[in-house]
Amino acid sequence: MLLFSTVRSLKKHLKTLQKGSKGLGFVPTMGALHEGHLSLLRAAKRRGLVTICSIFVNPTQFNDPKDFEKYPITTEQDLAKLRAMGCDLVFLPSVKEIYPSGTTNKKTIDFGFLATTLEGEHRPGHFDGMAQVVERLLRITEPDYLFMGLKDYQQQLIVAQLISYRNMGVKLVSLPTLREKDGLAMSSRNVRLGKDARRKAVSLHKELNYVAAQISTLKIQNLEAVSQKLEAKSLADMIGKYTSASKVRLIKKGFEVEYLEARNAKTLSFPESIREKLVVLVAAKIDGVRLIDNVVVGK
Ligand code: AMP
Repeated sequence: MLLFSTVRSLKKHLKTLQKGSKGLGFVPTMGALHEGHLSLLRAAKRRGLVTICSIFVNPTQFNDPKDFEKYPITTEQDLAKLRAMGCDLVFLPSVKEIYPSGTTNKKTIDFGFLATTLEGEHRPGHFDGMAQVVERLLRITEPDYLFMGLKDYQQQLIVAQLISYRNMGVKLVSLPTLREKDGLAMSSRNVRLGKDARRKAVSLHKELNYVAAQISTLKIQNLEAVSQKLEAKSLADMIGKYTSASKVRLIKKGFEVEYLEARNAKTLSFPESIREKLVVLVAAKIDGVRLIDNVVVGK
């Protein structure tokens, strides 16, 4: 496994790299690696790609400075995990390497509603920073495939837009969320959960499953009974009933719920027809730790 900390040294190496017949697979991360991250790398290796992983805690995507300060850094363990997995290249740049002319006043892409709703609404500027760093990393590494997790559902939709807007040749591969045995989505932030909060955190996944199951039932009933097709308004009311019930249960357990909503799985717009493919998404804080998760309806 080769380690690079400067853009120059990495680019020099990539110029002469024999990518093999399959190409280069890139897994960008912010470190504190867990099995979720490693599953992306594993998928890249299974495809026979040369693999590159980056570890960079991107300051421009943190709207809350405290969250940035508290972000776990476990570089030595991360490198040991990547080495054990057979990762070929690791990029560990400094902030100066990625943002040579500073982190402020960067040109941003307007992703419209996709980036202003849900996470975009609750974490202003987050997606601008995320898109900045992903674009810079893609320009540096020039991979054939980019591996991302569906855990960050809205993020991977925006990255797909970014690739299309910028006409980049890279193919985005979005992979399922890896979960702990009890269902909690793996996240670098989970290590910050106290014992009680960790026990309660599983409720997020349970409530997502509850809402998704209710919507699935609604879909089956209404698709069968064509004559009783649901109007957009009553669909919103029905879904609202399920999400409200879930939110109340979470709040009773001590969660501060930022959102829990069912949206169109491609556009994140509000559902208008029972025939749409939907995703249920949640963001909530417990014990001062902000967690996100989602479940695609019918999966
Ligand atoms: P992060 O280090 O949190 O920026 O995540 C780096 C990549 O790993 C992103 O594409 C995430 O979506 C993905 N990822 C994070 N957690 C998981 C998980 N539990 N399962 C699958 N992928 C994940």
